Formats: sequence, structure tokens, C-alpha cells
Amino acid sequence: MSERSDVLVVGAGQGGASVALGLRQMKFAGTITVLGAEPELPYERPALSKEYLAGDKAFDKLLLRPAEFWREKDVTFVLGAGARVMSVDPAEKTATTADGRIFRYGTLVWAAGGRPRRLPCAGPDGAGVHYVRSRADVDRIQRELATTTRIAVIGGGYIGLEAASVLRKKDKAVTLFETEGRVLARVAGVELSRFFEDEHRRQGVDVRLRSEVVAIEGEGEGEGRRVTGVKLASGEIVAADMVIVGIGIVPEVEPLLAAGAEGKASGVVVDLLGRTSLPDVYACGDCAAHANVHEATGDVVRLESIQNANDQASVLVRHLTGALADGERYDALPWFWSTQFDLRLQTAGLVQGYDEEIVRGDPGTRSFSVVYRREGRVIAVDCVNRTKDYVQGKMLITSRRVVDRGDLANPERLLKDLAARTDLEPKGT
Ligand SMILES: Cc1cc2nc3c(=O)[nH]c(=O)nc-3n(C[C@H](O)[C@H](O)[C@H](O)COP(=O)(O)OP(=O)(O)OC[C@H]3O[C@@H](n4cnc5c(N)ncnc54)[C@H](O)[C@@H]3O)c2cc1C
Repeated sequence: MSERSDVLVVGAGQGGASVALGLRQMKFAGTITVLGAEPELPYERPALSKEYLAGDKAFDKLLLRPAEFWREKDVTFVLGAGARVMSVDPAEKTATTADGRIFRYGTLVWAAGGRPRRLPCAGPDGAGVHYVRSRADVDRIQRELATTTRIAVIGGGYIGLEAASVLRKKDKAVTLFETEGRVLARVAGVELSRFFEDEHRRQGVDVRLRSEVVAIEGEGEGEGRRVTGVKLASGEIVAADMVIVGIGIVPEVEPLLAAGAEGKASGVVVDLLGRTSLPDVYACGDCAAHANVHEATGDVVRLESIQNANDQASVLVRHLTGALADGERYDALPWFWSTQFDLRLQTAGLVQGYDEEIVRGDPGTRSFSVVYRREGRVIAVDCVNRTKDYVQGKMLITSRRVVDRGDLANPERLLKDLAARTDLEPKGT
């Protein structure tokens, strides 16, 4: 016999938790079931490459809400590998899990995030080779850390850089490999990339740009096999006894696409209310491809951030409960943060399509911002140890005002004042 829920949420992560929580906050009285492929209740994933990897925060401190809270709110969780949804039947309105259970739904919300992109090269995928997506991934790293001295981090995105910074603090020898000519190439401008490359080098990370890892070297067989290094396209072999791979994610959308949902940007397409192309099926979070109103190039994008998962969830919950104001849609300004060494980076807006980057302040002081303009308007800010710029930069971006380059470059000028100015001509100075 199959169970029926008024709302069935697939994915017990950030987006799934926000949907369940939001529905109850909106006094939704129907049944809610959340299916999650991990054994844990929803937790703060960002800490995995920061405080949790560092050993500074216990896992129970990462839970978004304790078990008791979810019980009180009457949200049912079905967790573990058996609860992974393998197929969806939109005509019958059912989802089938890996252990063969069939869940019927009134509304389905797909919030299944993504799995780490595997390294497309030869070599062992067992002991010594790690990804950073789940608690289980980081617990596995922790178990091997004591006997590890040399670590190869593959990927110069946020996760790779954060992991490198934590591991350097633990006094490990860290080499970071990035195929592009700079770190953070996908998400930031050149100035910020150069700053973080310099910082990592200063802290003792061996940063190797334009370095493609083509194989993981190992010795031994079966259970006893262990990593000895990585081989680069140049033929060079760099010694390592642990490899951490951070090269992006593959959205978990296959069951939905197989059920006929439209896909794009490797995710499932949603509109700005969270609706997929299937009736009564919604999606949010890392897997949801959408036409973000802040994306200057007009491309359909997937955003991988807490802000996006929460805000998309909030709009779809308000839509489902009939609470949306006329014309309201998902238009929240994207923001993100990262911590590396003693640096707190806060970003707002999306950098894609910028035609100019302007540095505010001296990066040498370790407190500065980079402002991105497109046709004279500020579309994004990256702020390092400079929260005031981050807060005020958000105002400036949403003001859509044309702003003078000299004013932006002057760290004494408050960004909130520039957001409020009325005397500037709309020109790209
Ligand atoms: C190491 C790390 C550091 C990060 N740091 C930051 C940061 O500093 N700031 C920031 O804003 N964002 C950060 N992020 C990104 C942020 O955590 C994600 O954007 C956010 O968790 C996305 O929420 P989600 O609900 O889409 O996916 P998730 O939180 O990943 O949840 C998806 C859940 O669905 C489960 N699932 C997958 N497939 C199925 C299935 N078929 N059936 C059932 N369950 C399934 C998964 O196991 C998972 O538990 C970080 C991510 C990682 C991995």
C-alpha cells in the first residue's frame, strides 16, 4: 500500500527543509513528507568545508532544526539510501524509492541538490580519494587525516580553496591544482582570483594554475590500495597521500527528466514561482535552472547557494499557500559567503556579463572590495573583510543606478550614498 502526502518533498537538505518549514509557518495544515537519501536530518552544508572539516563544530550543531522540532511541526522524514527517489510518475502522482516504496503526492517538490562531479580520469576511486558534499564525505576525510601529510586538492573553486585553507591550518602540505589560468574563474573577476591565489601561496599552499590532473597514482590492491600522487597532463607526478576533489556538482534531476520535465543548464527548468513543466511538480535549490532576474546575460542559470535554496523555497511555498502578492516572483538578490584563513568574503549579485571591475581599498590591508559594473551600473560586489560594503553594495545593485567609476574606487565614499544620489547622469563613466 502506498502512502499519500499532500506535499511530498524530495531531498532533506537546505531547500527541502525550507519548504517544510515555510509551509508550517504559513499554517499549512496538510501532510508533509520529506524523503532524503542521506541518513541525517537537514543540516548546514556550508560548514562541511569550513568549521566541520576543521573540527571546530560538532555535527549536532549543524542541524538546521533538532528532531523534536520537526516532530512538533508534524513533518515526516524518511531518510537513508533506501529513501532515494528513483522514479516519478506524474500521471499517477507517485514517486518510487530505491527500496521499492511508492509515495503518492498531491504536490511534489524536488529539492535534491546535486552530487559531486567525479574526476574524469584514471585512478582509484577508493581510499584516499575524497569529495566534499555530505557529512559522510567529511567524516571519511577526518578518519584518514591523522595518517596523511601531503594533500592534493583538485579544483580552485570555493570548496577547494576552503578545504585547502583548513588543511593548511592543520599543517598539512597542500597542493592545489586548477585547470584554468586563475582560481574562482567561474564566479569572480581577475582581481579577486589574484588576491586569493596570493593569499593561499603566502599561507603555504602550492597553487598550480593551468594544471590538469590526468590520473591518480596509487599502489597496492583492493582494500589496501592507497594514493601516492597525481599525474598532470605535462607528465609530472606530484606526490600526495590524499586527494580531495572539488570540481563542481551534477544536479540530481534524472528521475524528473525521465518523467518528462524540461531540463536546461544540467538542471530542471523552473519558472519564477518554482513550477517545473510537469503538473503539480515544483523544484528549488541547486538543481533548479531558472531565468534569474539578476543574471545580466539573460542566460538560464542554476545557483548553488543557501540564499537561492531558501528564497526559491519561500516563493514556491507562498505560491502553494496562496499567499503571493500580485506579481510577486523569485527576484531576490543573490548572495554568498566564503571563509578562508582569517578572510571573510561576502558577495552579492552575479558577476556574469560585467564589463569592468573596480577595486575599492587596498588588497594589501586584507580589507577591500571589488565592484563589478556593466554599462555603468553595479551588478555585483565581492567584499573581503568589509561587511559595510557588502551591505551597502546590495542597496547599490538593487538601485540599478549608473555610478561614477571614481566614486566607486574611493573607499571613503559610502556605497549607500552612491545608491541614493540623484545628481548623476545615466552614463557609463
Ligand atoms: C562543502 C560545501 C560548502 C558550501 N559552502 C557554501 C557557502 O559558504 N555559502 C553558500 O551560500 N552555499 C554554500 N554551499 C552550497 C549550499 O550548501 C547549497 O547551495 C545548498 O545546500 C543547496 O540546497 P539544496 O536543497 O538544493 O541541496 P542539498 O542541501 O544538497 O540537499 C539535497 C538533498 O537531497 C538528497 N537527495 C539527492 N537525490 C535524492 C533523491 N533522488 N531522493 C531523495 N533524496 C535525494 C541529497 O542526499 C541531499 O541530502 C556549500 C556546499 C558545499 C557542499
